[in-house]
Amino acid sequence: METGNEKRCPLPVPLHVPADGEAGCFWEDRKDRHHCGIDLYAEKGTPVFAIEEGEVVEIGIMTSPSMIEYWNKTYHLIIRGNSGTYYKYGEMDMTIPEKGTRVKKYDQIGEVGQVLNPAMINSTSPRYIQALKEKNPAMLHFEIWEEYPVTDHKLYLGGNWFGSKKPPGLLNPLHYLHQ
Ligand SMILES: [Zn+2]
Repeated sequence: METGNEKRCPLPVPLHVPADGEAGCFWEDRKDRHHCGIDLYAEKGTPVFAIEEGEVVEIGIMTSPSMIEYWNKTYHLIIRGNSGTYYKYGEMDMTIPEKGTRVKKYDQIGEVGQVLNPAMINSTSPRYIQALKEKNPAMLHFEIWEEYPVTDHKLYLGGNWFGSKKPPGLLNPLHYLHQ
């Protein structure tokens, strides 16, 4: 029986899962915001796999230059797993299954994308963004929720949380991922 919390890997490459306190870790303190997921670095175009069987309940635009000028356009896809856990796979270049599709464990659901456009990063950009300018990493931004993920852009944007308290239901993906 699926429990939703056995350790799995959404990418076909060895994962470096940022430990608590490292850049890209869960609930990283970015001064005016906190990071809602965990960043899993991989080359742009790397396939992304569902880590639990379930249904695609949402597909949307995660980042775009019309939201923030230093962002490229990327997509997110939310799967409600059979266990009831919600998985948000973010910052992907493209997604594969349509909303309402049932996916099996380890079906490919998209490809790793690249959020940052280095040409548009400058001294007014947030510090943690300036620090990424030269590196410009591609990554899967991965969130896990025990209830439907918050998508209200007043509090949540691009994988970051702008409220003072952690949103209810947001889980640390560290405990779900293979190193
Ligand atoms: Zn992220």
